[in-house]
Amino acid sequence: GRPDRASAVWEARNERDTAELARRLAGLARPGTVLALDGDLGAGKTRFSQAFAEALGVKDVVNSPTFTIIKEYEGERMPFYHMDVYRLSPEEAEELGLDDYFFGDGATIVEWASLIRELLPDERLEIEIEHAGDDARRIVLTGIGQPYASWCATIGQIGDDKH
Ligand code: ADP
Ligand code: MG
Repeated sequence: GRPDRASAVWEARNERDTAELARRLAGLARPGTVLALDGDLGAGKTRFSQAFAEALGVKDVVNSPTFTIIKEYEGERMPFYHMDVYRLSPEEAEELGLDDYFFGDGATIVEWASLIRELLPDERLEIEIEHAGDDARRIVLTGIGQPYASWCATIGQIGDDKH
């Protein structure tokens, strides 16, 4: 059968490359899609989320959800749920009932997802954004479960011709 875990690396030279990855993943997204983002402050988690939302057809301005924790947006293709759990304890996060979002009608992005790893769905796409000098970012994708593992194979195949 298909592997239930696969990885891919996307080398972004600049913000446009980061946005291109986000657009491609938005093209694969469906209701119930969960992207678990990690990376230092300023890595580009929110920038990635903004490009993802735009590609889902979200017309509203997508801001950093650091203070709102969870923000819901309407999108032409599906709703977009944007979370930033940096300020939450796992106990506080548990009370939010995140499963209603993860298994809901939209696609979810969680910034600082590893802080609430035990609350994430078993199947998800983990995305680690690492600084690689100036505007360059090394973006490591790990698909856990299907369809995410297959997505990594797809991204790996098309990653070379993005420029
Ligand atoms: P985070 O949400 O991870 O804290 P933000 O997305 O808020 O990070 O900020 C990322 C910052 O880095 C923005 O100012 C953005 O313009 C800049 N930037 C430079 N290069 C890139 C890149 N390749 N990808 C994403 N953001 C980049
Ligand atoms: Mg952010």
